Amino acid sequence: MTKFEELGVSQDILKAIEEMGFEDPFPIQEAAIPVLLTGRDVVGQAHTGSGKTAAYAVSMLQDIKPDRTIQGLVLAPTRELAMQITDAIREFGRYTDIRVATIYGGQGMNVQTDALERGVEILVATPGRLIDHLKRGTIEMNDVRHVVLDEADTMLDMGFIDDIQFILDLTPEEKVMSLFSATMPVEILRLSEDYLKNPKHFLLDADDLSGEGIDQSFLILRDREKEKHLLDFINKTQGQKIVFCSTKYRTRDVVRMLHRAKMDAVAIEGDMSQHRRELSMGKFRSGTAEILVATDVASRGIDVPQVQLVINYDVPNQDLVYFHRIGRTARAGAKGKAITFVSYSSVSDWNMIKRQIKVELTDLNKEMGIEVNIPDPLKRQVVPRRHGQSHRSGSGGGRGGFGRGRGGPRGGFGRGRGDGGGRGGFGRGRD
Ligand code: AMP
Repeated sequence: MTKFEELGVSQDILKAIEEMGFEDPFPIQEAAIPVLLTGRDVVGQAHTGSGKTAAYAVSMLQDIKPDRTIQGLVLAPTRELAMQITDAIREFGRYTDIRVATIYGGQGMNVQTDALERGVEILVATPGRLIDHLKRGTIEMNDVRHVVLDEADTMLDMGFIDDIQFILDLTPEEKVMSLFSATMPVEILRLSEDYLKNPKHFLLDADDLSGEGIDQSFLILRDREKEKHLLDFINKTQGQKIVFCSTKYRTRDVVRMLHRAKMDAVAIEGDMSQHRRELSMGKFRSGTAEILVATDVASRGIDVPQVQLVINYDVPNQDLVYFHRIGRTARAGAKGKAITFVSYSSVSDWNMIKRQIKVELTDLNKEMGIEVNIPDPLKRQVVPRRHGQSHRSGSGGGRGGFGRGRGGPRGGFGRGRGDGGGRGGFGRGRD
């Protein structure tokens, strides 16, 4: 296997990489580092966990001069991801004299302005707050020569596309750009056509979206039975766990319930102050807290290598969210487990997601001998309707019933798989 040295990585960065325990480059690093080092743009279909941070950080650190002008810019969708990227770049650059600052909403402008005044070479920023600084004149980008769009599809989902264009239009023409995205929706492809010059494309881990390497299972149950099973699964599994909930209220309820059961759990959800979110993440990262209960804000890009188990306490509302959530386990080649709790009213949503899963799924109802008794009114509710129905669950309208419907043409990634039959296709023919 190629070593980092052979990719052209300089001695001071090699030393840091070695100390971080990286032996061999991951495929995306092997592919992208030499290309970026020659100054060519890169588009990588890759998500967090693939090692893309090192892929772009190395070439950026190597080319940037420690002269306290902003030469590198990384745009990321969330503050958590921005902070994580900052930490990683600082680690890789430990033996360089390059400074990194993080710019994100939710923290006072002044704290950030102070850091900027002391002088930095690399900024890791969420788009909205960066624009605030640009408008105030506290940041200018005339010297920027390296730009990275990280998790571009998530930024698109969060409505940042115009902000990104606004920012890119302010950067100098001459620069090296890289764009990383787990999926390549048409808006992202267009963005890359408009702003990147003859980029080299790498479609590295499109398959990772299937959650390969993760032992995935599901349990169909009544909503009120979830607590008991959650406690059982948590008790049965060693190591750290993440529990994903659909709303902040659910998150709070679940944390309270875990606390009552004397478990070390912390929460992270959108309504919490930045300070409290950081506190929770810090406790979870350091291992002081064994369980993180989160809404989807936390599922994007958070890298906690030792997570053994992801429990979807609620079925996510999109297949992509499902893969992002379960991708928090089995990181960097480790083995992981994901269990999805499917309440009776979410069966049709779950069947949509199941169709996108390419690996074998374990049907815990069969394995644990738990019967499924969907009440008749609910069955009627999820019978497919024809036209003009809402897309969201509850009614399940228009989205295929209990594992029978096909859901019609869907955009998105990966290979659709027909009707998900044969893989624990619960309830087929029941309604
Ligand atoms: P990323 O996709 O950049 O968030 O990286 C995912 C995880 O893989 C992080 O915990 C990195 O520290 C780790 N990692 C990245 N590259 C390597 C490598 N070449 N060898 C071992 N671990 C790595």
